[in-house]
Amino acid sequence: MEVPKSETETFTVDKTTESHIPLYYPNSTTNKTNVSYHYNPEVNKFHYGALHPMKPFRLLLTDHLIISYKLYEKMDLYTPRQASKSELLEFHSEDYINFLQTITPDKVKTLTSDTLAQFNIGDDCPIFDGIYDYSALYTGASLDASRKLISGMSDIAINWSGGLHHAKKFEPSGFCYVNDIVLSILNLLRVHSRVMYIDIDLHHGDGVQEAFYNTDRVMTVSFHKYNGEFFPGTGSVDEVGIGRGENYAINVPLRDGIDDESYIRLFKSIMEPLIVKFQPSCIVQQCGADSLGYDRLGCFNLNIRAHGECVKFIKSFNIPMLVVGGGGYTPRNVSRLWCYETSVLNDVSLNHKIPNYLPSYDWFGPDYSLHPQLDGRIDNKNSKKYLQSVQTKILEQIRYLNHAPSVQMYEIPPDLTGLTEEEDKLINELNEDLRREENLMKDDLKTGELMT
Ligand SMILES: [Zn+2]
Repeated sequence: MEVPKSETETFTVDKTTESHIPLYYPNSTTNKTNVSYHYNPEVNKFHYGALHPMKPFRLLLTDHLIISYKLYEKMDLYTPRQASKSELLEFHSEDYINFLQTITPDKVKTLTSDTLAQFNIGDDCPIFDGIYDYSALYTGASLDASRKLISGMSDIAINWSGGLHHAKKFEPSGFCYVNDIVLSILNLLRVHSRVMYIDIDLHHGDGVQEAFYNTDRVMTVSFHKYNGEFFPGTGSVDEVGIGRGENYAINVPLRDGIDDESYIRLFKSIMEPLIVKFQPSCIVQQCGADSLGYDRLGCFNLNIRAHGECVKFIKSFNIPMLVVGGGGYTPRNVSRLWCYETSVLNDVSLNHKIPNYLPSYDWFGPDYSLHPQLDGRIDNKNSKKYLQSVQTKILEQIRYLNHAPSVQMYEIPPDLTGLTEEEDKLINELNEDLRREENLMKDDLKTGELMT
């Protein structure tokens, strides 16, 4: 599939004309989609640490770009409150949330190595000032977005500060402390019978998959790099769900260097039959930006337009959608991507030249373009044959799926699945085994993880 090039490159203009070129123009005149933007600027003020690759100020850059293109004219804007403690406890354990609430960088020095290990504190997930407020802020924004979808005030609700898909019930993982996605999906399940979760981050969406591994009400779909070792170590095509959730987890394992064309083709060929068969009444899309080429921790070759093409494709099904961020470790490209995807979700085209009155304009040199060339750095290790075999396996899995399961609506949680005690015990045992294996693998990989 040919990815369209810049919208404005078919003509050239002189300086006087340039100042009159609109920043954006609508793609259609009949667009009635209500889009909302959920962002509390407090969230970008936190620091994981000078050497840590996760930089919350990438959210400030994103917001600057969105403002400079005047995209706020198109959306309902909300400054959401922090999530409350009881909201966090809808998924996370009380012990863990109490720990997050009371821990400080000073106190952490006095903890035993057992406690540090219990809460998985280390280089990936350090304790920094305001860690609880940071987590409650990005989660509050996702929950606010989910509420606007539930009330029907929004058709598409965006929270670029959310999408922290690795966080587990009892511990942080992979730079993620609270799993705002799981909490939002639990909220959506109160009124939506089937929710689909789509994850195009470079890494496997393990925290979300694990939370809904045994239910047919949430289908999780993750496209990611996988070789059995790359963080978080999970996400093989054979992980398909268990119990009632069997075949409701889909994993698309990819190798280094995948390019725009193969990614888009594979994405569409899998997502179309999945959506048609599962018929979700709501979709949560995680748009992790570390799948772009030239990401500091990345190894794919995707350009911004290709990543956005996946979002555009999902939007075309006209199903209410929560859109969140995720990974992304080259801040100037993260913000370009999420600004571009904001335009896609609003069905407008942007002038590819970044407005020069942007306060952070210098960050976007030397090209000052919304679409720098990001492909070609890494060899593409995904042969046609390999991608074909992954696609065949997943299309087969989709054939095994029952048609959209009809469910009774009940309170979520505590009983998500309606399993018998015996089934429940079996699943817990299987989960224990998985967790043990995962921990072993993590121990092996811990050294030097940040530098991969
Ligand atoms: Zn990631």
